[in-house]
Amino acid sequence: MSEDCIFCKIVSGVIPAKKIYEDDDIIAFNDIKPMSKVHFLLVPKLHVETLKDCDLTHQMLLGKLLLLAPKLAVEQGLQGFKTLINTGREGGQEVFHLHVHTFGGGAA
Ligand code: AMP
Ligand code: ZN
Repeated sequence: MSEDCIFCKIVSGVIPAKKIYEDDDIIAFNDIKPMSKVHFLLVPKLHVETLKDCDLTHQMLLGKLLLLAPKLAVEQGLQGFKTLINTGREGGQEVFHLHVHTFGGGAA
């Protein structure tokens, strides 16, 4: 948990989000500014800033995140979808808590 991290606040319930999935390790919720009809974020409950900060101790978590993307995408009505992980400011990352974008279904 990082004090001023918006996704940690969503994980702890301080800030509301349109949650579509939750387990012990991961939460998934709709993006507040969707880039397509379906656009959700898969977020580990553990605060890790970027993909670059991950190591072998995060292997299981990263696998879980990726395996969950197709499951939730299908549940959300998508047959095909895109996944995206922005890493670092130069990689377009704005929220420094690791997350996997999943989107599809045409323009929002
Ligand atoms: P990134 O540029 O990869 O860091 O993406 C951050 C994403 O988080 C953006 O698509 C934002 O629209 C989204 N976002 C920021 N704040 C919230 C929030 N409170 N609830 C849902 N999505 C959010
Ligand atoms: Zn965080």
